[in-house]
Amino acid sequence: MEDELIKRIWDDVLNILKETITATTYETWIKPLVPHSFDDNCFCALTGQNLAVQILQKNQKEISKALSEICSKEVYFKVMYDENLHKQLEKERQKLKKEEEKEFIKNLEKKISSKYDALKQMQSSCNLNLKYKFDNFVVGANNKFAYAVAVAVAKEPGRQYNPLFIYGGSGLGKTHLLQAIGHDILFNKPKLKVKYVKAEEFINDMVNSIAKGIDKTGKNNNAKMNEFRDKYRNVDVLLVDDIQLIEGKARTEEEMFNTFESLHNSGRQIVFTSDRSPDKFENTPERLKTRFQMGLLADIQVPDIETRMAILTKLSRDNNVKMPNDVIEFLSTIYNKNIRELEGAFNTISAYTSINELPITVEIVKKIINYSEKRKNVTIEGILDIVGEYYNVSVEDIKSTNRAAKTAYARQAAIYLAKELTGESFPYIGECFNRKHTTIMYSHQKVKKDMACDMNLSRDIKELTDRINA
Ligand code: ADP
Ligand code: MG
Repeated sequence: MEDELIKRIWDDVLNILKETITATTYETWIKPLVPHSFDDNCFCALTGQNLAVQILQKNQKEISKALSEICSKEVYFKVMYDENLHKQLEKERQKLKKEEEKEFIKNLEKKISSKYDALKQMQSSCNLNLKYKFDNFVVGANNKFAYAVAVAVAKEPGRQYNPLFIYGGSGLGKTHLLQAIGHDILFNKPKLKVKYVKAEEFINDMVNSIAKGIDKTGKNNNAKMNEFRDKYRNVDVLLVDDIQLIEGKARTEEEMFNTFESLHNSGRQIVFTSDRSPDKFENTPERLKTRFQMGLLADIQVPDIETRMAILTKLSRDNNVKMPNDVIEFLSTIYNKNIRELEGAFNTISAYTSINELPITVEIVKKIINYSEKRKNVTIEGILDIVGEYYNVSVEDIKSTNRAAKTAYARQAAIYLAKELTGESFPYIGECFNRKHTTIMYSHQKVKKDMACDMNLSRDIKELTDRINA
């Protein structure tokens, strides 16, 4: 029989079945059938769905009846599985799936990009840098806790950990985490007002407000100061970076205390970062120190080598730089205290090799960062031993507060050499010598200056450098 006729018969049959068979069976199994042949009394349809043959057995009588009615004679219905039809169906299904996925992604991107635009606008008004977000923060054993509580604070600001006080050495990701909290809140809770401020700006802002508040007659009017206060108290989330900078500045400390009380009493979130824990704030009033401690303290430690490698791997992936594993391992080994320095080295290397069209190899990298194998072996403990022996004073005395001239002399030389030969940061050297980093900076400067006119000192330093590097 002609295909056209077969199709017409089938269409009529479908019209009957639509009324008599349950909608699901009809839509899923019957509608997709393809009429194939009508020979003698047997009407055959094809299916691309394996299960259809079995399932339609129970409807077989009903379909045959409909066929017989249309054709006015006894007709027998048969359904057969067809591999080609199956493939075709599969293809269509895949195509549909892809289109649906595309549509889904398009909609999602649209949603994200409108949120992103809003976020960009907001972040600039909040002083945030889009580089610092949770999703590009590499989590390791050193920062796991700080990361987890930062995420918790961003989820429910003002609820659990208030204030959150994050502390740790320089270049370890404090600012990154602090701003990530800000971004997360802006993104997920756009109704909340977020303010990020560096403690330094807070100080300057306050000093300026005081200065501007004094009018020409020398009288103090409070309008400017009130404006300053409003700015920091009319927010839902206040993020203060490097709070240690207000230490010893009594007026700022008082202002910070009042700001804190005002926010905290009304359940608004405050997060501080600092290079040291609150108990190391020597010149800060006790009442402010206890406020720092009343929420949750979270420290960030120096990352282990795996975390440093993970950070470099992520950097090279994000920046499309092909950095081989041995280079990643090499850099992670020597930049072991500070992620900012690790990132700095990465940037220098990728810029230099790309401009000069060089491959990134350990040899080339060593040249770029001016690395000498020796530097790796020089440790502060090693320096202390050699200097102690040279001046005949004990390492213990060098690290103590002993002010005997000989000890003080050896101590200054050791501090100078520690800075010059290890390149460690002043705060880190400070820790090794049990001293404040400002003291270390001062000693380093002093030796540098004295060497110009003190022949004995410059001879000692040269001799000690040779011994340490030997
Ligand atoms: P800090 O404020 O503690 O001195 P930053 O937050 O400024 O340190 O971090 C220094 C640099 O190192 C930033 O560019 C930051 O993005 C990066 N960084 C620090 N920790 C991480 C980390 N865990 N994952 C990815 N990048 C990090
Ligand atoms: Mg910082």
